[in-house]
Amino acid sequence: MIARRDLLALGAIGWMLPAWADDPLLAVPAAAEQGKLVVGRSRAGAQVRVDGEPVEVGADGAFTFGIAYDRTGSAQIEARSGSRLAHRQVDIMPRIYEVQRINGLPENEVSPPPQVLQRIHDEALAIAQARTRTTDAVWFAGGLDWPVAGIVTSVYGSQRVLDGQPRAPHLGIDIAAPAGTPIRAPADGVVSLIGSDYVLDGNLTLLDHGQGVSTCYVHQSVIAVKLGEHVRRGQRIGTIGVTGRATGPNLHWGLNWFQVKLDPSLSTPTPLPPRA
Ligand SMILES: [Zn+2]
Repeated sequence: MIARRDLLALGAIGWMLPAWADDPLLAVPAAAEQGKLVVGRSRAGAQVRVDGEPVEVGADGAFTFGIAYDRTGSAQIEARSGSRLAHRQVDIMPRIYEVQRINGLPENEVSPPPQVLQRIHDEALAIAQARTRTTDAVWFAGGLDWPVAGIVTSVYGSQRVLDGQPRAPHLGIDIAAPAGTPIRAPADGVVSLIGSDYVLDGNLTLLDHGQGVSTCYVHQSVIAVKLGEHVRRGQRIGTIGVTGRATGPNLHWGLNWFQVKLDPSLSTPTPLPPRA
């Protein structure tokens, strides 16, 4: 006999349990790391709130939310279905991030001129706008495959210090591979943004995987998909390049829940590929 509390502790894998498993109204992991895309399970038609804010619930009961890289404490999850109400707490597990020191950048790389700053601003706005999109698709719920085989040169959360000045943490994963190496969709999705020759990101693609979950592909040489196209897991969406601000051919791979930048390597079935 499995105790009810043990079933609840199984959290995100709740839907893998057989039908006799008490049909919980709400199943989430008891704890999750900073940067994690948390996938929970309720039931179709239930109203689910994360920290008081309503989130979408898929036809199969799947819902999701992200934990920011620097968030501490816990997330409060509530599900309501008819007169039934369930509440769970997801404790946030802090991480220790790497520090990356980069020296000797040319001056125009460190402080761009005003017209370039304006472009960077406009491009960031287009990206942020695309990340407001939400649909009831649950393509994120099956996890993410690695989009390319290569060498990881920078991990999520690295604190970058440029010429002694602390900069924003690196909230994605850099994977170096030869130029022209195919990049493949990590899950089904819809192309929600094509960015051509962006200052920082070069050729950029955003994929929408449902419920505000998106992934981004930065520095590509060739983009092989069109805006609005539905892509399948494993489909070639572009190729590794060195466009935008990149020091060599690599993919910057990002995962978002709306504007919250997450760690895609916490959603892949296999751990990080080899480090540089
Ligand atoms: Zn990067």
